[in-house]
Amino acid sequence: MLVYSHPDHRLHNPSEPHRFGGVLLPPAETAARADRILSALASLEAVDVVCPPPVDEQDLLLVHEPEYLEFLRTAHDRWRAATGAPADGEAVAYIRPIPGLPGRPPTHVDAQLGIYSSDVDPILEGTWPAALSAAASAVAAAGVVHDGGRVAYAICRPPGHHAAPATFGGYCYLNNTALSAAWLASRGARVAIVDVDTHHGNGTQAVFWSRGDVLTISIHGDPEVHFPFFSGFPEERGDGAGSGANLNLPLPTGSGWPAYRPALEEAVETVGSFGAEFLVVALGVDTHVTDGVLALTDQDYPLLGETLRTGLPTVIIQEGGYGPGVLEAAVPAVLAAFV
Ligand SMILES: [Zn+2]
Repeated sequence: MLVYSHPDHRLHNPSEPHRFGGVLLPPAETAARADRILSALASLEAVDVVCPPPVDEQDLLLVHEPEYLEFLRTAHDRWRAATGAPADGEAVAYIRPIPGLPGRPPTHVDAQLGIYSSDVDPILEGTWPAALSAAASAVAAAGVVHDGGRVAYAICRPPGHHAAPATFGGYCYLNNTALSAAWLASRGARVAIVDVDTHHGNGTQAVFWSRGDVLTISIHGDPEVHFPFFSGFPEERGDGAGSGANLNLPLPTGSGWPAYRPALEEAVETVGSFGAEFLVVALGVDTHVTDGVLALTDQDYPLLGETLRTGLPTVIIQEGGYGPGVLEAAVPAVLAAFV
């Protein structure tokens, strides 16, 4: 199996704590995550880890708005110039527009941080090159299956499935899963995405909401009580040409394999009836019981991998997974089904 990994992911390594549940917590999405996965892959045979070539700007435009890409590229420099912040400062939104109030499109970087983000994630000096490196891995993995490969895996970080066409959030800046699927679709293919991260793939849903050539499916913890709250409900089925091409399968908090398995089987059946030629798996392993939303355990991930092995050429994109030992146990277990 070809595995794409780029060292530039380390340029995005947030260190400022987040306030959550009334206490300050260290950031969960750090550079150590990709390194943990890499060392865990040593347990698998027939795995080739390679660095992808740079991603083409035109490929980013398959998913993201040009103004947003320009913002991500320049935001940290402009923020430092405007505020006098140091090079290792982390730029975070602290103001958003009042809904319904007329106003001008903002030009100040602090205001634009509030327009182009959906939560309190930071932009660091190295966020842009790190996000580009993850996107490069995702697009390179799509190229492998397009050229006849059976499977390819991209260790993307920062992750991507909460990034929308013009917003970052949920640790995500460029939507790697969507970029991989959009790249395959731009070659005329029908593509299905199955997002098994424990959080709704809201950015991916936003990217393909009105498109009928890319099926988006997400299995996740009930968004009534879990991030990202505002979407991920069953009645969200897509719009226009995309009507019926979005499927959300939320599960109650604490669901284990007995509840998870039927949802995953429904997802795989829907991929089949859609007539997909390629499958893109958004592989979050924060479904693990230690990550606190759903309750899969170590022995469930080989079954998850087997169920996702549909026979279609498959791109596997790394999304979430944080708790101690979770990435090390779950990621190789899923990949082993494809090796
Ligand atoms: Zn997640």
